[in-house]
Amino acid sequence: MAGAPYLGEMTVTNSKLDKAVEASLEAAGQRYTRARRAVVGTLAGADGPLSAGELHARMSGSVPLSSVYRTVGVLEEVGILVPHFGVKGLTRYELAEWISGHHHHLVCVECGNVDDVGIPADLEATIREVVGAIAARASFDPVGHVLEIEGRCSRCS
Ligand SMILES: [Zn+2]
Ligand SMILES: [Zn+2]
Repeated sequence: MAGAPYLGEMTVTNSKLDKAVEASLEAAGQRYTRARRAVVGTLAGADGPLSAGELHARMSGSVPLSSVYRTVGVLEEVGILVPHFGVKGLTRYELAEWISGHHHHLVCVECGNVDDVGIPADLEATIREVVGAIAARASFDPVGHVLEIEGRCSRCS
């Protein structure tokens, strides 16, 4: 999805988000079905990545679980969703960063919950500096990074 527009902070009813998702699906010869809208909308309003089971529960069962699995598969193939592989082998999904914006994750080692965390630009610049310094040690040209902070969430600590 290089060159795709950055759409800013995500909101639940973001018509820009819907248009961008619809355009991506159309380019892949796919339609923006009710189930796909429900999954994208639910993820846009979530605090972090969700598994197919968690999506199914959040949508109050309005989309059958088998359909949720197929839907996340299609959305991942088209580049709208990216997988997040949890410490306990659970695969969760989130909107790709070209849609949701760059962010990091807080991963709870007790309950396995994953929360998004956005950070201010000056802190992000510091992270990029550190990432650049690490990469430079291996003559590696960095183009991005993923940062996961492991620990205990407020419910578990
Ligand atoms: Zn926890
Ligand atoms: Zn970052």
